[in-house]
Amino acid sequence: MIPESDVTFAGSFLDRADRLRGDADWLAARLADRDSMVLPFWRGKPLFDLTASGPRLAWLSATEDLVADCPEPTVFMGLDDAGVAHFAADVSYLAPPDEHPAQFIDSQTLDLSETRKFIELRAIMADIDHRDAGIAAAAKGIFEWRLTHGFCANCGHRNRASHAGWRFDCPSCGRQHFPRTDPVVIMLVLDGDRVLLGRQSGWPEGMYSLLAGFMEPGETVEEAVRREVLEEAGIVVDAVRYVTSQPWPFPASLMIGCAGRAVTTAITRDPHELEDAIWVPKSEIAEALEGRHDRIAPARKGAVAQVILRAWVRGQIKGI
Ligand SMILES: [Zn+2]
Repeated sequence: MIPESDVTFAGSFLDRADRLRGDADWLAARLADRDSMVLPFWRGKPLFDLTASGPRLAWLSATEDLVADCPEPTVFMGLDDAGVAHFAADVSYLAPPDEHPAQFIDSQTLDLSETRKFIELRAIMADIDHRDAGIAAAAKGIFEWRLTHGFCANCGHRNRASHAGWRFDCPSCGRQHFPRTDPVVIMLVLDGDRVLLGRQSGWPEGMYSLLAGFMEPGETVEEAVRREVLEEAGIVVDAVRYVTSQPWPFPASLMIGCAGRAVTTAITRDPHELEDAIWVPKSEIAEALEGRHDRIAPARKGAVAQVILRAWVRGQIKGI
């Protein structure tokens, strides 16, 4: 098995404390407490301190102006070991200097200082502290959901955030809406000592990765693995087992990592899904992971595909 500590975005150190999310008085008291910590997000990007030892999440006191002035409801992220409440706040109300908000383009950045910057999580995921990554992923997921689910899917009325930010309630029809998570299977398909890799058009040159796809209603994880591999590469898979998982809040996926045994080897590629599909020996994957392969670049650091491939090369994935 692959330890959670190897997977970026897995394992927040906070107790999510769902039992406290409905206690409005307690939450208000915590937000008025200068010891409570708040992680600001600006247009989907968490705030980081660029320290000598690497980027760390920049937690502010709940009573700092940047947070206290925020018009959007905060999200209660949980309690640390000392019982300190942690929140996340969407401070997108801040406009970048010298920019009119209406002309704003999201690729622009906002720096609070030389060493304190809002940075896109995906761009920095290979460098961030493991404990920070889990919290940033949870908050990012909530803000992504909030961005696209502002109106009731039942009646169209504007939703109202409730339950410490973890639920939307519709004031018109009373329907409750919860943050969604979309499961994706991603699979190490093996033929003995070879693995099946694919590449999509538009990926960086030379980049290959494990096959992956969204699960459909009424499917088990194993069925989804077999269906996706057959659809995309024409390969029949029999035995499938779970390997690891990774929250992937871009915008709302849960990557379910599996290993599967191929019982056919002739590739029939779906050109709409894949630009190329190839069998690659383990020795060449080892070279690719070390950046020594002349044609293949593996999935980026921090992505679960690379974690799974690395574990396989190390001999940690057996029994398939
Ligand atoms: Zn409604």
